[in-house]
Amino acid sequence: MFNYNEEEVRLEPTDTKCNFCKTGNSTSMDDNHYIPMFKTKDSTYLIVYSYVKYQQVGVGISRCASCRSIHDNASSRASLIAWITAVAFVILTFAIWGIWGVVGIIGGIIIGFVGTFLVQTYIISNKDILTKEEGSKDNAGVLELKLHGWSLRNPAA
Ligand SMILES: [Zn+2]
Repeated sequence: MFNYNEEEVRLEPTDTKCNFCKTGNSTSMDDNHYIPMFKTKDSTYLIVYSYVKYQQVGVGISRCASCRSIHDNASSRASLIAWITAVAFVILTFAIWGIWGVVGIIGGIIIGFVGTFLVQTYIISNKDILTKEEGSKDNAGVLELKLHGWSLRNPAA
């Protein structure tokens, strides 16, 4: 299901069907979406994956060039929109509350991060494809690795 690329420390999918639009095909290994997975147990039953020396590898989810560009554009546009809104919010709280506007900085940071996620999800859903998270979570390869002691969460964190 995967080929281990030692140089890039990532598992490259052998299946090319795009996981995000379900119609396109991945034509380049670099277009695929790679999510970090962490080894939680030293013993892994799958011989195929036991030669992965690292505690963390990128697991490739097949993605076509069109979905890659939608994902990339959505993430840069979303962070731009969210952070401009966040800065405007902070300026506004200072304008209204004076020095107590410092409290608004916390609100601004929340708006920046949450807003980026929401706007990104909105833009991507409008294009009728799955977001990076949605397209990855039920991926057969990811599920299989989970069964064999790998986790999407960093155990060291
Ligand atoms: Zn696609």
